[in-house]
Amino acid sequence: MKTLLPITIAGSLPKPSWLAQPETLWSPWKLQNDELVQGKQDALRLSLLNQQQAGINIISDGEQSRQHFVTTFIEHLDGVDFENRKTVKIRDRYDASVPMVVGPVTRQKSVFVEDAKFLRSQTKQPIKWALPGPMTMVDTLYDDHYKSREKLAWEFAKILNQEAKELEAAGVDIIQFDEPAFNVFFDEVNDWGIAALERAVEGLKCQTAVHICYGYGIKANTDWKKSLGAEWRQYEEIFPKLQSSNIDIISLECQNSRVPMELIELLRGKKVMVGAIDVATNNIETPEEVADTLRKALQFVDAQNLYPCTNCGMVPLSQEVTRAKLNALAAGTEIIRKELSA
Ligand SMILES: [Zn+2]
Repeated sequence: MKTLLPITIAGSLPKPSWLAQPETLWSPWKLQNDELVQGKQDALRLSLLNQQQAGINIISDGEQSRQHFVTTFIEHLDGVDFENRKTVKIRDRYDASVPMVVGPVTRQKSVFVEDAKFLRSQTKQPIKWALPGPMTMVDTLYDDHYKSREKLAWEFAKILNQEAKELEAAGVDIIQFDEPAFNVFFDEVNDWGIAALERAVEGLKCQTAVHICYGYGIKANTDWKKSLGAEWRQYEEIFPKLQSSNIDIISLECQNSRVPMELIELLRGKKVMVGAIDVATNNIETPEEVADTLRKALQFVDAQNLYPCTNCGMVPLSQEVTRAKLNALAAGTEIIRKELSA
């Protein structure tokens, strides 16, 4: 029987203390070589268990095999110099020291396929795997070779497509591309961002998703959110083109955000992962608060297309807070399932 309102998570889960520094974004690995492989697999097992105990239906990797949602992928590519770094402004918001593109970017071998095969071997539930989106990759680098964001995005899209096809063959049910940059560079999104994403999913038979959020709960992001005014209408700029794209699922930030819920109407017909858990606070949502967000979203998305979800990744939170939030997500979803089947 098909699950009504299948629950999933948008991104990362906390990493266990054997693998990385807890409650720390982008912490370096604590292990190396074979121990690192083992440590990541144990972390994937724990992240799977936490999701299953909470009642999550579509299991995510929880990013246990990634140090950073963009650079871990880029580290595996040729044409990028990680030693000579440059400081650039990420998403027009904060400075970061980033690697430099110095030649044609290519992928010699798969990046996450072994990790995905491992997760696949551990559960019969549907699994979702996340990759960075082409535009967000471009925005996390200094380009000294292509000298064109669009050209570089197109090269990344081809590489992502190779990786995605291997993930699909490994049994991944949903491949998600993280594109927080879609919330910032609207003209580029409409000019070439969505086209690059469609190139990345070309020929895939599994479901595809794009995650567009307002970022982790770090200061640069919370300050930026304060500057956005009473209504956040960023999604309005890009939803019409996304609605007519061939991406199946759109993942959005809705809990405690100032995004007017009616903007989801612009995506009518698409599946929508509705963020009903705020990842920028340790406050645990009540089941009724989660239900309230889902109920509002149901005015603009058909029940069979709604996936209750988190706003974004939860790696900066503690294991305890995360488990409580996942439980709230499931309990809130259960309230709405009962209402819908009454
Ligand atoms: Zn996010």
